Amino acid sequence: MLTADDVKKIVKDEDVHYLRMSFTDALGALKNIEIPISLLDDALDNQIKIDGSSIAGFLPIEHADMYLYPDPASFVIYPWTSGRDKTAALICDVYNVDGTPFAGDPRGILKKNLAAVNKMGFDALNVGAEPEFFLFKRDENGRPTMTVNDDAFYFDTEPKDEGEACRRDIANVLTDMGFKIEAAHHEAAAGQHEIDFRFDDALHTADKIQYFKLVVREIAKQHGLAATFMPKPITGINGSGMHMNQSLFKDGQNAFDDPNGFKGLSDTARSYLAGLLKHAPAFTAVANPTINSYKRLVPGYEAPTYIAWATDNRTPLVRIPAGRGKVARLELRSGDPSANPYIFIAAILAAGADGIKNELTAPDPVERNIYEMNAAERDEANINELPGSLEQAIANLEADKELVSALGDEYVKTFARFKKDEIAEYKTNVTNWEHKEYFGA
Ligand code: GLU
Ligand code: MG
Ligand code: MG
Repeated sequence: MLTADDVKKIVKDEDVHYLRMSFTDALGALKNIEIPISLLDDALDNQIKIDGSSIAGFLPIEHADMYLYPDPASFVIYPWTSGRDKTAALICDVYNVDGTPFAGDPRGILKKNLAAVNKMGFDALNVGAEPEFFLFKRDENGRPTMTVNDDAFYFDTEPKDEGEACRRDIANVLTDMGFKIEAAHHEAAAGQHEIDFRFDDALHTADKIQYFKLVVREIAKQHGLAATFMPKPITGINGSGMHMNQSLFKDGQNAFDDPNGFKGLSDTARSYLAGLLKHAPAFTAVANPTINSYKRLVPGYEAPTYIAWATDNRTPLVRIPAGRGKVARLELRSGDPSANPYIFIAAILAAGADGIKNELTAPDPVERNIYEMNAAERDEANINELPGSLEQAIANLEADKELVSALGDEYVKTFARFKKDEIAEYKTNVTNWEHKEYFGA
């Protein structure tokens, strides 16, 4: 992991001219302020001040000063910049003027939850994310259209896969930024892609997701395309998920692995899993935080709709992919890339930790295709549905004491306020579907 001294050396050796001090707002958008590299020492000394009043969910206008505390391990150079414009970035924690961490900083909220799990005796939560995205064409003025870039299918090859050059470029840029790319492919929907990068500790995976989204959008634009991470851009075909693979480590060993346990999983894994299932109705609010998210969580599109787990079956909420030992992990399949990665990971970690603390036991796995089970069969197997709307998910989150305490009362209140406004606005908006359906009424 890079230290402040490493950053100073690289900046000199590479002749970097600008630094983007970056952080994430309450809703998950990556924000940054650019400083000239002459201020690097001040920046590494936590002296860069921002006005938090125009950042979603930060401070009121009357006392808006905040400080950015950069994490040297997050340092990257933006490989598409060069010469006089060569630019690097650091991801920062957000602090109040009195030197205390800002309670509404998503990165700070994740750190707080990681510290709690360290206290329980675990060294690390490792997280591997699988963000999917779509590439759309742009019009002659460079504006995004709603026409997808190709009509290729899962794992298709060129020339059907017309996103290949762009996807390769994205992978190259990410590699130059220190990502270890593990796989890249066309996804099942037209214009849809996936690029997987190697897992990291939870905090740095969240940072990487933020850089990933920036790079995908930037490089797509350079290819004359528009990338989107909205969960369900097109009716009737797969949406984009962001599966989260999770494993806890203790004394350098994977604490989820147990060759003698049920399905090769330890009691810790099964309790963590039980915690995920218990809190799923509530953490869905932050794993699927947009109105559009719920148009993806419907049967038939490889996205989960029911709260259950399985090993190889891809219809339930949690899957245990093949591979045990060091790589034993739980894959949560509900989240989507519109989620704030820090808050999403903090919430699922808190859910799992609650399962471990209370030694909850997971129900039996469901190895059948849940989409094909009828209501009576689901009832018998005790399978509940994920919330069907953002409104329902927000109400569940507000009522979930453990998650409210893990994310902080302040944050949950702010988040819920934004989301309720969004829902109110959506409810009064007349859509194309209504025109089509009711114009002749
Ligand atoms: N695109 C699917 C989703 O919405 C996931 C496909 C896959 O299993 O990779 O979750
Ligand atoms: Mg996929
Ligand atoms: Mg997956």
